[in-house]
Amino acid sequence: MPVLIVGSIALDTVKTPAEEHADLLGGSASYAAVSASFFGPTQLVGIVGDDFPKAHVEYFAQRGIDLAGLQQVPGQSFRWSGEYMLDMNTRETRSVALNVFEHFTPHLPESFRQTPHVLLANIAPALQSHVLDQMTRPRFVVADTMDLWITIAREDLLKLLRRVDLLILNDSEARLLTDEPNLIKAAALIRALGPRFVAIKKGEHGCLLFGDPATGEFFACPAFPLANLHDPTGAGDCFAGGFIGHLAQKDAADGNHAAPVGFDALRQAVVFGSVLASFNVEAFSLERLRSVTEKDVQKRFEEFRRFSQF
Ligand code: AMP
Repeated sequence: MPVLIVGSIALDTVKTPAEEHADLLGGSASYAAVSASFFGPTQLVGIVGDDFPKAHVEYFAQRGIDLAGLQQVPGQSFRWSGEYMLDMNTRETRSVALNVFEHFTPHLPESFRQTPHVLLANIAPALQSHVLDQMTRPRFVVADTMDLWITIAREDLLKLLRRVDLLILNDSEARLLTDEPNLIKAAALIRALGPRFVAIKKGEHGCLLFGDPATGEFFACPAFPLANLHDPTGAGDCFAGGFIGHLAQKDAADGNHAAPVGFDALRQAVVFGSVLASFNVEAFSLERLRSVTEKDVQKRFEEFRRFSQF
C-alpha cells in the first residue's frame, strides 16, 4: 500500500557549533519521503525551482519514490537556514525564502487520489487541506505542523484538524496550540479538536503517543541514546515519514481494512519513526540515510525494544 507525502522540498543551510553546510537537500517532504521509502511505495507531492540539483531528484528516484506529483517550475527553490546552539536542541531560524513555494498549489495526479495513508508534512495548513480536498477519504491521515502555523494560520489549522486522524507536534507546539502547560491535558484538548491520536515529540527525551484515555491508550517511546549527533534538522520529518511508512506496511500485512487502525499498530510505528529519526541526526541533510539498510532499521528497532523492557 503506498503512502502519499506532501510538504516542503528545500535547499537548506545549516550551522551547528561544529560545522556549517550550505545548499543541502532538505525540506519536510524530502526527509519524510526518504524515511517512508524504507517501508514501501511512497508518493511525493511538492515543488522545486529550476535550480534544484538533478542529483537530488535522482536520489528520490533511486529510493523508488513516485515523483509524478513533483512540480519543477522556473525560479528558485524554497530555502531555509538555521543555526543550532551548543545543546543541539535549541534552534534559531536565520532565514526563510519561499521562492517557488509562494505560488504553490499542490496538485495530485489521478494515481495519488485514492492512496490510503497520507502524511501532510509541515507546510501551510491551507495547502495541507487542499491535498485532502483532492482525495477520496483516506484510511489514515497524519499531519505535522509547526509554531509558525499555530501563530499565523490558527484558523486554517483548526479546520484541518477536524479531518486528521493523528497530529504530530513537539511539546512546545502542543503548549502553544492549547495554551496548556501540562502535556497530558494538552493532548486531551488536541483530541477534542479532531484527531483521535496525538504524538507529542520531546526531542532527546523521546515521544508520547495519546489515544483514548478511557481504554488506556498511552505509549511513551524513548529516544535512541546517541553520543554523536551531527545535525538534528529533519528529525521530526523523518519520524513522521518512518511512522506513516511503517503503518502502511503493517496495515497491508494485516489485511483487515474493515477495522479502524488500532493503537498497537500506532505504537510500533512510533518506534520505527524514532529509529529513522535517530539515524538521520547522525549526519547532515539526508546523508546518513543513504547508507542505512532495511536490516539496520530492523536491528535498531530491536535495540529500542531491548532497552525499553523492564
Ligand atoms: P525539522 O527539523 O523537523 O523541524 O525540519 C526542518 C526542515 O523543515 C528543513 O529542512 C526546512 O527546509 C523545513 N522547513 C523550515 N521551515 C519551514 C516552513 N515554514 N515550511 C515548510 N518547511 C519548512
